[in-house]
This record gives sequence, structure tokens and C-alpha cells, in this order.
Amino acid sequence: MTRKESIKELGNILFKRRDALKSALAGDLSQLRELQASGDIVDLALDTSSDEISSQLAEVESRELKNIEAAMEKIKKGDYGLCEGCNKAIPLARLQALPYAYLCIKCQIESENGTLDLSYEGSTVGSFQRT
Ligand SMILES: [Zn+2]
Repeated sequence: MTRKESIKELGNILFKRRDALKSALAGDLSQLRELQASGDIVDLALDTSSDEISSQLAEVESRELKNIEAAMEKIKKGDYGLCEGCNKAIPLARLQALPYAYLCIKCQIESENGTLDLSYEGSTVGSFQRT
């Protein structure tokens, strides 16, 4: 599969996940569960034994939703998969693990250390902090 094809596929995953998250935030967890069951999503912070969304979970999900929407915007503009720190292509393996990653691993580490310069034009990171 070419990088372009993989990105298209990641776009579909982001799209489905965005819809599922939107429903989950509205109180309907069924789509999110379906995605989880199909193995489309990783590292999901969802307690499947509970129908209640805790405010903490809702916070995590709305933050993720923002990241997903930013990533989808990039797919539209054609600069998805480029690191916002060094402007180089983020390896596909990283994007597949985290489809809304906006930093390569090197820059991610630098951003966690507080040494990353994100002043270049086009950065959408703002005050976002990844935990
Ligand atoms: Zn980078």
C-alpha cells in the first residue's frame, strides 16, 4: 500500500471515530463500542461495562475529537502526516498507532521536554498538552 492509500484509509478511520465520539458525547456509546469490537481503534478510554459517561471520560473524548477534527482538516488541505515540529513526514507506523498524531516521535519527545519550537507558520498545536 502506498503512503497516499494508507492516509486515505486513516482518513476513513478518523471519520468513523469522529462520528462515534460525537455520538458518545451525546450519550450514545453504541458506535464507539462497535468500532472497538472491530479493532479499528486503539487505546480507547472507554469503560464498556458502564452506560454512564463520566465527566472525565467526556473530557478525554472531546479533546480527542478536537485532535481528530484537526487531522481531518489536514487531510483536506493535503498536509496530513507532516510533523508540525520539523515539517518532515511522520512515519506511517506512528500514524497507524495514533491517526491524529501531529508530531514525529523525536518532536513529541522534545515537546514533552519543553524544548520544541512550534513557532513555524501553520502549527495548530497552540496550548494543547498531550499527557
Ligand atoms: Zn518532527
